[in-house]
Amino acid sequence: MPRIAVFAGHGGTDPGAVANGLYEKNINLALSNETTRILREKGYEVINNRTTDVNRDINADVALANRSNVDAVIDIHMNSNLGTPGTGTEAYYSIRGGKGKDLARALVNHITALGFVDRGIKTRVTANGQDYFGMIRNSNAPAVLLEVAFINNPNDMAMLDIDTMSQAIANGIMEAFPSVPMPPPVFGDPVVRQIQTTLNQRYGANLVVDGIFGRATKSAIVAGLQTELNRQFGRNLVVDGVWGPATRAATVTVRPGAVGNITYLIQASLYTRGYNEVIPDGVFGARTEAAVRIFQRDQGITVDGIAGPNTQDRLFR
Ligand SMILES: [Zn+2]
Repeated sequence: MPRIAVFAGHGGTDPGAVANGLYEKNINLALSNETTRILREKGYEVINNRTTDVNRDINADVALANRSNVDAVIDIHMNSNLGTPGTGTEAYYSIRGGKGKDLARALVNHITALGFVDRGIKTRVTANGQDYFGMIRNSNAPAVLLEVAFINNPNDMAMLDIDTMSQAIANGIMEAFPSVPMPPPVFGDPVVRQIQTTLNQRYGANLVVDGIFGRATKSAIVAGLQTELNRQFGRNLVVDGVWGPATRAATVTVRPGAVGNITYLIQASLYTRGYNEVIPDGVFGARTEAAVRIFQRDQGITVDGIAGPNTQDRLFR
């Protein structure tokens, strides 16, 4: 899962911008805390610079983000200006562009969808051509300084709801840094997985395809054989996956040269019993015959390379 630094601008003795009784540091913190809660609920790892009203230190925050190896940094601020109040949302990203620019765009898109004016995404550089904001300049990960809205604009502040805005910020982060579902771990034997898949497709066996040969797969092979005997030879077997006298009596002898689903089931049974030189393919060729002979020898029964009732009894029981 992505690891995100959600930082609240200012704090403690530094109130940030102040207007109409509102303190920037408090709004930043409320947004940071709620955005963090939402992201964590979605499984994201989130790092904060502060979760209460304490001083922040930009250098310490950058160091925290860098040593935490975050995927992105979002520094939350309120805008302010002199004279006629400005309005709307803007975000600063690094002149390095890349994912930081994508994140800035995603954040502004989600916030302006709430009705705030789109002031665009921007870079700001020093006279010697570096990123102006230390957080953006010194962060290893893509970093965005987000100016959510104007604290000195009563309309912007009336429109600013902490929960809704936090959700928009979280949505922007999740869009730019999607959570990656973990691929299911691959266990077991790939040939057993292939056998399980075939049994599911051919006979509706409903097996978990885990590549592990167990009771369910063994029973599904017998059920497959019962189904084939009924279909191909008009037997009237109950398809219950249980190897009993009725099924044993209904078997057909399968010889080298045979091709088809019963041969496949014999091969599957050989494979899952450890005679795995033959990958089941439904063709009773020389390798299958050799495997049957070795199986018969190991079982102490007549070695003829033919899968007759006695051999099948040993294979399927
Ligand atoms: Zn600020």
